[in-house]
Amino acid sequence: MSSAMPKPVERLIEAFSRLPGIGPKTASRLTYHLLRTSEGESKELAEALIAMREGTVFCSRCFNITSRGSDPCDICEDAGREGGVLCVVEEPLDVLAIERTGTFSGRYHVLHGAISPVEGVGPDDLRIRELIARVEAEGIRELIVATNPTLEGEATAMYLKDAIRNPQIRMTRLARGLPSGGDLEYADSRTLSEALQGRREV
Ligand code: ZN
Repeated sequence: MSSAMPKPVERLIEAFSRLPGIGPKTASRLTYHLLRTSEGESKELAEALIAMREGTVFCSRCFNITSRGSDPCDICEDAGREGGVLCVVEEPLDVLAIERTGTFSGRYHVLHGAISPVEGVGPDDLRIRELIARVEAEGIRELIVATNPTLEGEATAMYLKDAIRNPQIRMTRLARGLPSGGDLEYADSRTLSEALQGRREV
């Protein structure tokens, strides 16, 4: 990077570049946009980031995002939810997508990623150990493995099947029909709802 660039500018470009889907070009564009706009706009962004970090935690049970002070989260605490059924997803956004369908009444477990040898993500980098502990502790009857229909998502489902070898527990996978290689969060509610209803044994 050019030494003609002030250090704080360089720092922000680097910080933006580390975000998913943002290359150096976009990172520069965002930084110069903020330089041109009012100071208030930058402050609002900085404060929103800090508030997000300080105001939220991961639920200690399902690892979905929850407000600080509401742990376990509302879904884990909701007595109206069907016990014994867990939907395993990669990201908190997937919980939102499934909640939007209005057809799932169990609870969730967020892995925070999927197994990916290429990116160096192994089972220990995900919330898999915690999932296995929950399956025992909560008397789970069915695990719906709703990881993405990608190579990584499939590899994760296969890993879970091997790790949780318990004939008492039904393990299912969402039905085909979701856009292959895509993310769950981009599927429309109807497709997702049908995929849930048509789930099949792993
Ligand atoms: Zn929770």
